[in-house]
Amino acid sequence: MNQKFKLAPSPTCTCGQEDQTAEHILQRCPLLDEERKEVWPSPTPLQTKLYGSRQELEKTTKFITSAGLIV
Ligand SMILES: [Zn+2]
Repeated sequence: MNQKFKLAPSPTCTCGQEDQTAEHILQRCPLLDEERKEVWPSPTPLQTKLYGSRQELEKTTKFITSAGLIV
């Protein structure tokens, strides 16, 4: 059992810049700029997006859904 569990066939994001981590997707991925601005018109810390209030978490879910990513 040496094989690591993989979430996606490739860990690199489709933008090709970085691995597809939660931080990259939520904060930096250039492919998702538009969706990100719709959900968070002003910059929001990653901490808030992942561990914020229920309302904040709903925004995160909405973003992930509109980005077409599987949770
Ligand atoms: Zn990306």
